Amino acid sequence: MSEVRHNWTKEEILDIYNKPLMELLYKAATIHRQHHDPNTVQVSTLLSIKTGGCPEDCGYCPQAARYHTDIEGNDLMTVQQVKAQALRAKSSGSSRVCMGAAWRNVKDGPEFDQVLEMVRTINKLDMEVCCTLGMVTENQAKRLAEAGLYAYNHNLDSSEEYYKEVISTRGFEDRLETIDNVRKTNVTVCSGGIIGMGEKEEDRAGMLVALTTLNPQPESVPINALVAVDGTPLEDQEPVSIWDMVRMVATTRIVLPETQVRLSAGRTQMTREGQALCFFAGANSIFAGDKLLTTPNPDVNEDMEMFKLLGLNPQKPFIKKMQPQTVEAENSQFKPLGEKPKWSRPDHKIERNEEAKQKAKALK
Ligand code: SF4
Repeated sequence: MSEVRHNWTKEEILDIYNKPLMELLYKAATIHRQHHDPNTVQVSTLLSIKTGGCPEDCGYCPQAARYHTDIEGNDLMTVQQVKAQALRAKSSGSSRVCMGAAWRNVKDGPEFDQVLEMVRTINKLDMEVCCTLGMVTENQAKRLAEAGLYAYNHNLDSSEEYYKEVISTRGFEDRLETIDNVRKTNVTVCSGGIIGMGEKEEDRAGMLVALTTLNPQPESVPINALVAVDGTPLEDQEPVSIWDMVRMVATTRIVLPETQVRLSAGRTQMTREGQALCFFAGANSIFAGDKLLTTPNPDVNEDMEMFKLLGLNPQKPFIKKMQPQTVEAENSQFKPLGEKPKWSRPDHKIERNEEAKQKAKALK
């Protein structure tokens, strides 16, 4: 049984990443079998519960208000709308619903109360509930946990060094602080990143070093391939090659043996053969639905056909950890504190972010 290590070095990880492919695949598949059922893949559904108008400047994101993209924004969905979508997702094999809101950070108030109600509602449908809402304080994480949240997603995105070339409106240390706040509860952590943003292999390894250092390590690590969207600073990035994706998944599996590795954005650019290689290399989750927040994703029926072809079974919920209890709002032990945390704002200049912003201004 491979051990969980928190002291991987960048050099060791790069060594793994660059192994001859057959050797890398064999090692990753062996470790995968020691810790997971290789024929089971979790199907998760990502719902954009509040789309667009985000004040952040993430260079890959069409939801940043400062760039000109053709996404349609929407206000926070109602609990009923979310419940209807969750039921549909459940009936097509999803065991997890991840709700994403284009916010810099969570603010106490009616919108957060509405999200808490969504969490209660989906947990009562016996599905794993995950939220990605930006930075959270300890008290907010506790309120989410009490509502029945199973996982909180907050990606590191890339290495600490390359992160600074993609985002200037919040610091890498805030990412770690949010993860730390989530860790003060029973909520599991989902944190990964994106490849294909122009980073070097060293940055991919650097991100994995940061994830492996976390103690405990994240229960879930999404690996996204950039979907370059017109109008964003990264619009001209070439699609990442399937071989890079397979190497990244395999390396993640080896250095994070117990973690659920999620094959996330970018699957529309992959063939079934490519995805099969990713599953062989240790990916054990996909996101279903024709949209991943705002970018295209394969249709769920196509995914189910692929599962049949490969003999894969959708994973049942709460395999890794027990279903959390839901505490109703009126019985909550944690009241809103109305905190105004000082999340950082480095605001250094990123040339391509600035250019995309100016281009958007000119188009308005
Ligand atoms: S990735 Fe999230 S925080 Fe960044 S601009 Fe998009 S919605 Fe906002």
